[in-house]
Amino acid sequence: MIGEITRSTAPPLPNGRAARARIITIGDELLNGIRVDTNTAWMAERLTDLGIVTEQAVTVGDDETAIAAAVREAIECVGIVIVSGGLGPTQDDRTKKAIADLYGVGMTNRPEVEQAVRGFFAERGRETTPVNLDQALVPEGFEARVNPRGTAPGMLKEAEGRLLFVLPGVPGEMKALFDEWVGPLIRERFGGRVVILHRWFRTTGIGESDLFDLVGGLEEMAPTVSLAYLPSPEGTSLYLTGQGAHEETIESMLDSAEAHIVRRARSWLYSTSEIDLPGHIADLFSERGLTLATAESCTGGLIASRLTDVPGASAWFRRGWVTYSDEAKVEELGIPDELITEYGAVSIPVVSSMATGARSRAGVDYAIAVSGIAGPTGERPGKPIGFTCLACAGPDGVVTKEHLLGAGGRARNKRRSMSLLLDLLRRVLEGLEL
Ligand code: ATP
Ligand code: MG
Repeated sequence: MIGEITRSTAPPLPNGRAARARIITIGDELLNGIRVDTNTAWMAERLTDLGIVTEQAVTVGDDETAIAAAVREAIECVGIVIVSGGLGPTQDDRTKKAIADLYGVGMTNRPEVEQAVRGFFAERGRETTPVNLDQALVPEGFEARVNPRGTAPGMLKEAEGRLLFVLPGVPGEMKALFDEWVGPLIRERFGGRVVILHRWFRTTGIGESDLFDLVGGLEEMAPTVSLAYLPSPEGTSLYLTGQGAHEETIESMLDSAEAHIVRRARSWLYSTSEIDLPGHIADLFSERGLTLATAESCTGGLIASRLTDVPGASAWFRRGWVTYSDEAKVEELGIPDELITEYGAVSIPVVSSMATGARSRAGVDYAIAVSGIAGPTGERPGKPIGFTCLACAGPDGVVTKEHLLGAGGRARNKRRSMSLLLDLLRRVLEGLEL
């Protein structure tokens, strides 16, 4: 088997380009949907920071043939292969055997791993069983690295300038081994050739395709940068990546790409960092020494919850009401009964009155209010599922907006209502067009 592997086609380090990696995650539970594969995303992010391009990530089940095939193909294609999962002593964990067979080698006992496994159980006052001691068996020709958080060691085969790492699947164990061993070794062998830098742009209130119409064509202007569109119910984020040999060249490329994006999408863009919309609102309020209250109906407290997720929120967030029923709106916020009877709870007059009521009762600079039909039931004549009314009351009066969000699901509509309302507040504070 090993003979086939050494006939690798692609060079491990293509000239002048970033080294490439493949991630292979293993486990039936990742394929039948009961566990989400978080290891791939975590490792890919670390690799990007190291200037390594992850060109493919695959997940295979606990099947020796499938594991061996995936590992063999990966080693033939790229310089760095990282396998995670399936190392445990249980019967469903097959990785070690698959890899030993692939290389045509047997297992040898590693005294340093055995000692660590015995120590692991002794520390916990437990006996080391023969099954536990199997963890000390490592394929011949592989380096073994003691696991600081568990019993399955990390393993490494280095040949022809290529690295094959085999790590445990337990996320905490994988991360510990990656940070203390895998990352530093990759940096030593492959680091410094290519720098990969990125920048975030956060937009809200504009759809992905409209945003593309505004900022598209960037890649033609600057072929060495790439722009990813990442839509969510809270808005579309743009992730700009540039790579090259020199940091200054990439920075200046990213600067011109950024200028283009900011010029074209200015009104929709609330942040050029990783800060999300609640975080941005928090910055605006604390910088300006302002105070805020919320009056929520269809969002059920989501807005207050997300705003108070931001550390230091007590400096500017005063209180939030969840006035879900008509009575609550009347009793808590002082909305005239007639307003609800005449226009209905989901209406501009009611939401406007919710905002002014909240503002005066809380004694704050600004109050925001939302009332909508999140769905999937509850539509009324002229008010379909997804109909949402928003209001923002401040020192200069009340501004309102209504939106038709569609029947995209209750949770999605709550999140969209939240981001549209926070965007309305942002626009008022920043003096932008509403
Ligand atoms: P150990 O020897 O410590 O048991 P292992 O390599 O055998 O490690 P697995 O048995 O495959 O790891 O998985 C252990 C746990 O980690 C399971 O709960 C599994 O669902 C979880 N896990 C495995 N792989 C991933 C992954 N890619 N993303 C998230 N969780 C994972
Ligand atoms: Mg497993």
